[in-house]
Amino acid sequence: MHEMSIIKGIIGIIGKEMKKSKLKKLHAVKIKVGELTAVEPETLRFCFEASIKDTPWEGARLEIEDVPLTGKCRDCHTKFRFHNFVSICPVCRGRAIEKLTGTELDLVSIDAV
Ligand SMILES: [Zn+2]
Repeated sequence: MHEMSIIKGIIGIIGKEMKKSKLKKLHAVKIKVGELTAVEPETLRFCFEASIKDTPWEGARLEIEDVPLTGKCRDCHTKFRFHNFVSICPVCRGRAIEKLTGTELDLVSIDAV
């Protein structure tokens, strides 16, 4: 499962951060998930909870910030949100689109003591 490998990666990063900062108890994790990643937030949450069950982190919350897929037209500089992943400028119908957001899958912050 794609989501499980993402969660494993995130948990690995959190583990390193917590060790470095000598933190013991994890309360919450905030991540950003772009629309283009095609990751299901509910599946992510399920994988996260399954991964921390019976560990000292059990009960920690996973907060997911959805990031819409947006782009900017290189011809007329219009910024817009993609519909159905079609990269055509809604104003000039140009196809030279630069992606602005929607591809990220980032750990934003952790709340731990
Ligand atoms: Zn345009």
